[in-house]
Amino acid sequence: KAAGGGRWTWFDPIMDRLADDDARLAADLRQALVRDQLFLVYQPIVELPHGRLTGVEALVRWRHPEHGLVPPGVFVPLAERNGHIVELGRWVLENAVAQAARWERELGPAAPDKVSVNVSARQLGEPGFPAETAALLSGAGVAPSRITVEVTETAVLGTGTALQAVRELAAQGLTIALDDFGTGQSSLSLLVDCPVGWLKVDKSFVDGVTSDSPQAVIVDSLIGITEGLRMQAVAEGVETAEQAERLHRAGYRFAQGYHFAKPMHADDVELLIAAQEDFSPYLRM
Ligand code: C2E
Ligand code: MG
Ligand code: MG
Ligand code: MG
Repeated sequence: KAAGGGRWTWFDPIMDRLADDDARLAADLRQALVRDQLFLVYQPIVELPHGRLTGVEALVRWRHPEHGLVPPGVFVPLAERNGHIVELGRWVLENAVAQAARWERELGPAAPDKVSVNVSARQLGEPGFPAETAALLSGAGVAPSRITVEVTETAVLGTGTALQAVRELAAQGLTIALDDFGTGQSSLSLLVDCPVGWLKVDKSFVDGVTSDSPQAVIVDSLIGITEGLRMQAVAEGVETAEQAERLHRAGYRFAQGYHFAKPMHADDVELLIAAQEDFSPYLRM
């Protein structure tokens, strides 16, 4: 219910039925693309320890005419299975890039440094994807260095085309983020073969960071790997001040999570930036 938020009312049994009713929902999704039912929200990626916004991640939302907000955890995998993901992904990329251009125009140096976009396995495997992305960016007048492409380990390992696409995107100057790191078909050789800029350490590891747990050991160790390989570590799903503080002490410079900010509409990102600018002398101390 929370406007634009990342929270869902899971107690609603309709969601269970939705998840089962693939065919129906797939047809609805095709309509969603032409009927303007999709929109993007943006979650701040912040610098530790003060929480100043450095970038944002674009996250897609679907306002279904009968069912209300359908979570991307339901419709993205569905679109991935039936092939609509290519069209959906293109829509997301176009809109996120257009928003990046708008922010740059309207906010100048205060604009988010980078806008992250999630790209699915299927999209990455489309032969024309890197070239299409390059054309889109130059058409919008957005520098490749301002866009981060978030991919999962599993997506990159899926096909040779996917790995090749990631290399081409990186060569064009986009940042590659390995999303949900540690939860896919993790292979450290991916960090050797693939030009990774950011390692987004999955929430399931961050959850355990304040306890004496294997997750905490992994979170700590990943800093050594990312520093040695000149990557940035980004902690995902930070929900408490204790976690943020512990991550900062472990050497994390970047984080994302409800403790700092939930996904929000583009207008609210601007309000947040304006509020932070007012306090910037303090934030920079
Ligand atoms: P993700 O890319 O790992 O995105 C982060 C997800 O974690 C988002 O969920 C975000 O709202 C949620 N999150 C962030 N901070 C916290 C926190 O502190 N606590 C908790 N519990 N959750 C947090 P969302 O928006 O529901 O997206 C879920 C997944 O759906 C994304 O995971 C991504 O894999 C996929 N997705 C979302 N938008 C797109 C898109 O445009 N294209 C593609 N291909 N996938 C997308
Ligand atoms: Mg992501
Ligand atoms: Mg993620
Ligand atoms: Mg995730």
